Amino acid sequence: MIQQLINGIATWIKPMKIKPPNTRDIKYLFLHTTGTSMDATPDAMRKYWKNKLGWKNPGYHITIDKYGEAHHLLPFDKIANGVRGWNKNAIHISTIGGKDGTDTRTEQQKLALSWWVKKLSSEYTDIVIKGHRDVYGPDKSYWKKSCPNYDVTKWLKEDNVL
Ligand SMILES: [Zn+2]
Repeated sequence: MIQQLINGIATWIKPMKIKPPNTRDIKYLFLHTTGTSMDATPDAMRKYWKNKLGWKNPGYHITIDKYGEAHHLLPFDKIANGVRGWNKNAIHISTIGGKDGTDTRTEQQKLALSWWVKKLSSEYTDIVIKGHRDVYGPDKSYWKKSCPNYDVTKWLKEDNVL
């Protein structure tokens, strides 16, 4: 009788099991710039996405401030709104700054960004690292955005990130 009860409860619990984190099929890591002043805050970003753009989820999973501190905006198992059409399989990380299309990353931001690139590359061994604008192809005239305002492939090589 007790065994039956346990079995009954077990079959009832099974479908309710909560998904463990990071069950998404991660294929891409996108690097972004916020395209704002260096002093933009994660709170202001959240407000902008929610109130101005009407987005349910943030644009990035992580944003890195000028001191190199990473602010977590969304867990990796949730989908962020970084690049339309690519989000389902992507993690998005931005550095705060990049106003007027320039690369304004501080040394601390570059260090923190390389740390995350290294960490995620070792966790997801097949991950492809791209800059936002890379989805539009190599021809500048097709770029809808200049984000992240630097050549990601070149930076990864030059700074020996990977
Ligand atoms: Zn972007």
